[in-house]
Amino acid sequence: MNKEFFHIRDKIIPGKEIASKYLEEVSQQVAIMQAKHNISPKLSVVIVGADPASHIYVANKIKTCAKVGITSQLYKLPALTSEKELLALVNELNKEKENHGILVQLPLPDHIDNNKIISAINQYKDVDGFHPQNIASLYLNNTTKSFVPCTPLGCYRLLQKIGFELHGSNVAIVGRSNIVGKPLAMLLLLKGNASISMVHSNSKSPHKITKQADLIVSAAGVPNLINSDWVKPGAVVIDVGMNRMEPSGKLQGDADFDALLPIVKAITPVPGGVGPMTIAMLMENCVKAAKVSLKIV
Ligand code: NAP
Repeated sequence: MNKEFFHIRDKIIPGKEIASKYLEEVSQQVAIMQAKHNISPKLSVVIVGADPASHIYVANKIKTCAKVGITSQLYKLPALTSEKELLALVNELNKEKENHGILVQLPLPDHIDNNKIISAINQYKDVDGFHPQNIASLYLNNTTKSFVPCTPLGCYRLLQKIGFELHGSNVAIVGRSNIVGKPLAMLLLLKGNASISMVHSNSKSPHKITKQADLIVSAAGVPNLINSDWVKPGAVVIDVGMNRMEPSGKLQGDADFDALLPIVKAITPVPGGVGPMTIAMLMENCVKAAKVSLKIV
């Protein structure tokens, strides 16, 4: 699959199409695993509280599991669930042999310490790749048996699939969160051999930094932040942002898509760009978790 490149039509990167190719590959791997080892990868998803956006994301993940043959189990817990109760569930799922992946949907309610929960997940079942040990493996560029967070991995694979030459390129990443900006910087630096500039809310003249870049990846969560003043003509823009606009409820990225389209080399749409890749990479991580349990990676 890695040698296959995708055609960019009208400068729009076909994230959904690339993701569905990955999902096809995951389905094939699941079928092989069932035939050879008589097991199906299983993902347990835990959601606490009633945040509507989180419930939509979780429903999508469960739906995609069914599509590719991954067994899933959803644990819906009330918002008042205590940290102790959640830790007890995580520990139980850690022990279940037939359960290969555990995903605790973030954000958690304020009274629960995210880091405590993430650290409690068995690192070999942490398909989100947020466990400190998985982060360390990414920093050490030793990810054969560890998990890379799904959104950064999805961005990296998109870039490979459109044939973007990361080696020696100047990349600006807008946003430095633990789930997107920081792990993506490590991935593009260590696996891509790119030079990375990190832009965040304290950056002085951020547009001057991004304007130097061959590639801009934005994960700020600010609609229309990346406009034509921020982008060098001919640059590639990967838009991770997913901002729900009021009152329309429409999903909008961080990039001013219509203004950028005439000047960029290529750009991801929102929706239909990075989002589907994130879910596809989650499915890939679930298969990897099952392989790790079988000691075949
Ligand atoms: P986050 O934790 O809120 O982090 C946002 C980052 O952006 C922070 O580092 C912040 O800087 C920086 N930032 C905010 N405003 C900025 C500005 N005006 N200029 C420059 N930097 C700015 O967000 P996240 O969880 O990483 O998510 C970011 C966006 O990606 C959201 O829209 C989210 O919904 C989306 N997302 C999409 C996917 C997907 O699958 N497509 C997955 C995950 C997230 P400081 O550190 O200085 O505060």
